[in-house]
Amino acid sequence: MALLPLYILKSTRPKIVIIGGGYAGLAALTTLRRYSADVEITLIDPGTHHLKITHLHETFRYPLSDLQVSYTLLEQRFDCRHIRSALTIDEAALCQWQERGCLQLKEEAVPFDYLLVATGARQNCLDGVSGDVAENVLVLEDFCTAAGSDLLDTFLEKQDSAASCISVIGGGATGIQFLFELAGFLHRRRVSHSLRLIDDKARVLQQFPPGFASYIEKRMLELDIEFFPGVYFLEQRNNQILLEEQASRRQFELPSMLSLVFTGNRQNNLIETNLFGQVKAGGKLLENVFAAGDGSVYPSLGSNSMTAQSAVRKGKLAARNMLRYSGLLKVLEPYLHRDLGYVVSLGPEDAVGWLVLENNVVTGVPVMVIKEAVETRYDLLLSGVDTYLV
Ligand SMILES: Cc1cc2nc3c(=O)[nH]c(=O)nc-3n(C[C@H](O)[C@H](O)[C@H](O)COP(=O)(O)OP(=O)(O)OC[C@H]3O[C@@H](n4cnc5c(N)ncnc54)[C@H](O)[C@@H]3O)c2cc1C
Repeated sequence: MALLPLYILKSTRPKIVIIGGGYAGLAALTTLRRYSADVEITLIDPGTHHLKITHLHETFRYPLSDLQVSYTLLEQRFDCRHIRSALTIDEAALCQWQERGCLQLKEEAVPFDYLLVATGARQNCLDGVSGDVAENVLVLEDFCTAAGSDLLDTFLEKQDSAASCISVIGGGATGIQFLFELAGFLHRRRVSHSLRLIDDKARVLQQFPPGFASYIEKRMLELDIEFFPGVYFLEQRNNQILLEEQASRRQFELPSMLSLVFTGNRQNNLIETNLFGQVKAGGKLLENVFAAGDGSVYPSLGSNSMTAQSAVRKGKLAARNMLRYSGLLKVLEPYLHRDLGYVVSLGPEDAVGWLVLENNVVTGVPVMVIKEAVETRYDLLLSGVDTYLV
């Protein structure tokens, strides 16, 4: 399907605006450049750097700068313009943008022929958590601005030496990857604080085959990490956390010097599209507005999982379809990508994942090698070498 022809008119120079410089946005950017030198591309993102967020938990071992790619460098490499801005995106805004063919930023108006919304689905991890945000709570956003090792070192320096517990909230892929990296970090620093995991589900990684949970829970036992399944985190205050048992609604406190909260992505306000990535809003099809990445839902056989591989495939497909739509024959390509696997790393030396079929659970070194290969492909894409077949 990627081989469907791209009929680009030589006489026009389409203006394409991408909102969001994450995995989907950058996959679209690199694809647009690969197929057409003659497109004017503007990338809008509030940050100064693209963040390779799939490695974020590794900042307990590596500097954050290893994961950052400056938008200035990407501007030069892919001949585009980056504007630092965060737009408010809702149904009314999407309809207005389609109607006007223009985005109004604080400083300037940005006209476009095609617009791609790729702003992800990250939400504030503390949405829905009661009480004031305590000083001793870290969320994903904190790790996007400072390395895990620096955040923990700074926090631990301020504590007295009494051994206590650190709580990780959220047994999804992000929480688990941070939990095991943190265990390794405390071990390397010879710190005696213990670790616990709190999750409101009955087992970790509920969305994956049970083989994931049994392997991870076994590894947690080996590392002396306490697990509280079926328990809600309510708040961290001073040196205690307040929890609630899901079944009985019984509230109880436990000693905890610090909580790391990873309670997942926003599932509401996702942008619906048609089979080809064009946005549907206000009961209409917005022909010039496309969406891709975690924040989009495609009504097709393709994968809508919130993974980097789906985000990249949606971004690439939307880019090809925008180019096709700007041509004479508007034959668009449907989204059919299926994820071929998913790997959750358990520190530097172990991982668990599925490959090809969801029930094919694999652990240890082989699966780590595959994760490495997948991530190298994305690095190559950012350097201008596209090894993806679709
Ligand atoms: C720690 C961690 C590990 C992960 N590991 C894996 C993994 O191993 N494999 C895997 O497949 N997936 C993994 N994921 C999931 C993967 O990172 C996401 O699926 C992927 O980042 C989604 O890409 P995206 O482009 O939709 O959104 P994002 O990558 O979140 O990018 C969104 C971009 O939009 C910008 N933006 C947001 N709001 C606005 C706005 N209003 N205006 C302008 N710009 C805006 C943001 O600054 C950001 O740059 C992991 C996620 C985390 C957090």
